[in-house]
Amino acid sequence: MTAAAEALAARIRQTGPMTVAEFMAECLMNPVWGYYATRDPLGAQGDFTTAPEISQMFGELLGLALAQVWLDRGSPASVRLVELGPGRGTLMADLLRATRIVPGFHDALTLHLVETSPALRARQSETVTHPFTHHAALEDVPDGPLYLIANEFFDALPIRQFLREGSVWRERVVGLEDGRLVFGLAGPTEPSDLAPRLADTHHGDLVEQNPTATAIAAEIGARIARYGGVALIVDYGDWHSLGDTLQALRGHRAVPPLETPGEADLTAHVDFEALARAASRAKATPLTPQGTFLESLGIAARAEALAKNLSGPALASHKAAFHRLTSPDEMGTLFKVMALYQPNTPLPPGFSA
Ligand code: SAH
Repeated sequence: MTAAAEALAARIRQTGPMTVAEFMAECLMNPVWGYYATRDPLGAQGDFTTAPEISQMFGELLGLALAQVWLDRGSPASVRLVELGPGRGTLMADLLRATRIVPGFHDALTLHLVETSPALRARQSETVTHPFTHHAALEDVPDGPLYLIANEFFDALPIRQFLREGSVWRERVVGLEDGRLVFGLAGPTEPSDLAPRLADTHHGDLVEQNPTATAIAAEIGARIARYGGVALIVDYGDWHSLGDTLQALRGHRAVPPLETPGEADLTAHVDFEALARAASRAKATPLTPQGTFLESLGIAARAEALAKNLSGPALASHKAAFHRLTSPDEMGTLFKVMALYQPNTPLPPGFSA
């Protein structure tokens, strides 16, 4: 048993089985052995890779989309540019480079990176050269018009899982059997926020809830409704959640979630409907496949422009990156984009009604 599994087992012996959310939060952010807290897991050598690590075009296009909204709103003089879970800081560096050409945008913004991992905070401080402030949570970011990006952030937040039995629910928990971590079920409950799910589920179905994600979405919605701005949320998931989507990735391969706590990335699909509902003081765009979104922002033209200066292996890898971001058999349809924006303002770029 690893030290992390020992620590989890000791805690379960003391206080009983833990919820999947508690398990996920410990595995990802335990200060001593948590997956994100202690390492930079991204890139080809890491456990998984993300769109901004695949190509600079991703951060460039998202940045120009944000700047376009800022221009459309009459270039407000003081806005908050915020990224949730910036990883290595690559997306933000690409975004800032691409938006240098937008007159006044950089002068108008203060930059805020919301990040809890000490290891990744250090990495971001190396990558992002524009002055910024680190925060532990969005609520610590000062008020004002909000221009926000979150790529593969919401999938890392801890989910709770509930199994339906008849008309009651039993929460999925992590306990111990013969000294090993195993999934189990807690006693029946009838949480009021799950009552609506009785309409679209049956006996034996499992539903997921992400209380941290919906609280953050509510905060985003409230700020945008009050001060204006836009939030671009990119992640894998769907409109409406059903079934067990907890997954662990290690060395680019799926592993059983309880097997190597602290050493594998743990994620769950994002329920965009739940985010939109929580953020309902703002308007949500239609949920749009990443490929469609990037294409309507002009990724093909940008890819061609970049290709002009490339040859040999660099050109081949650039073409592969373009394919990976946009193609339906790669990230193009699995990943989705949803924007939150101020009611009574035009749809942000990249979306159609
Ligand atoms: N957006 C980056 C990284 C995605 S990985 C990219 O696309 O490459 C998830 C990121 O969210 C990491 O930076 C991780 O440390 C951060 N994170 C996870 N849970 C968090 C939380 N509760 N608060 C703030 N950041 C968190």
